[in-house]
Amino acid sequence: MKKYLVNCAIVALAGCAGCMCQQQPAAGPVSTPPAGDKPGYTDTPMLPSGRWHVHDPNRPVPPVVTPGAQFSDNAPAPADAIVLFDGHDFSAWKGEKGPVKWKLQDGYMEVAPGTGEIATKETFGDFQLHVEWAEPEQVVGNSQERGNSGVFLQGIYEVQVLDCYDNPTYPDGQCGGLYGQSPPLVNACRKPGEWQTYDIIFEAARFGENHSLIRPASVTVIQNGVLLHHKQALLGPTDHRRYGNYLKELPARGPIKLQDHKNPVRFRNIWIRNIAEEEKP
Ligand code: MG
Repeated sequence: MKKYLVNCAIVALAGCAGCMCQQQPAAGPVSTPPAGDKPGYTDTPMLPSGRWHVHDPNRPVPPVVTPGAQFSDNAPAPADAIVLFDGHDFSAWKGEKGPVKWKLQDGYMEVAPGTGEIATKETFGDFQLHVEWAEPEQVVGNSQERGNSGVFLQGIYEVQVLDCYDNPTYPDGQCGGLYGQSPPLVNACRKPGEWQTYDIIFEAARFGENHSLIRPASVTVIQNGVLLHHKQALLGPTDHRRYGNYLKELPARGPIKLQDHKNPVRFRNIWIRNIAEEEKP
């Protein structure tokens, strides 16, 4: 408890928005979504704002903004970028239990359902990340079962990938959501089958002595040229039906992971730029 209080005090002094020091919430019993036509959960932990549960079906739905036809589509990697995927091979990636088993064809990779997530071999701290993806042209399933994948920053914070073109789901789980924590400001999805872009700027969490939190991880996300999050603080690692915290110091660096949620989502043109050397607080 003492350590918990110390952590909270440091966070307060650092001026972080909201206390990131909540105890690890219980996952709660497994249950089906509530009755009605809104997918989501109300038996999950309350988020620190005190207004919404994790995956709350009653949270305001982000408005739809139709993106422009082009933004950073097919953007060539800058000179100092690390190319993670140029359409030719999986040399920068590894599977959960060895080589990547996803499909590779025509300049893109495609989730081979059931073969597991993939992760970069290299790890990253603060970075700028460019990712392009496309939802399956053939629409199958609803809510979280339609074109679900995800871009995991440092392997632990998910920026949701989901076909949210006319596909209601709980707001903190819709496309571009920081899963289970923060819905995107708007819904900027293109139609299924069309290529889409994420441009993500991420700053890792910083810890001081005795694993105390100096500042939480934060992220800016642009989808198809439309801002979804601006320096949005993460409460901790993302999770299903719960959210993480910073009570335990997290690694300074982690891989980029792409999720296998058993839907054949495609990815192409992935590159990353390190922003700075890891700082000593
Ligand atoms: Mg996902």
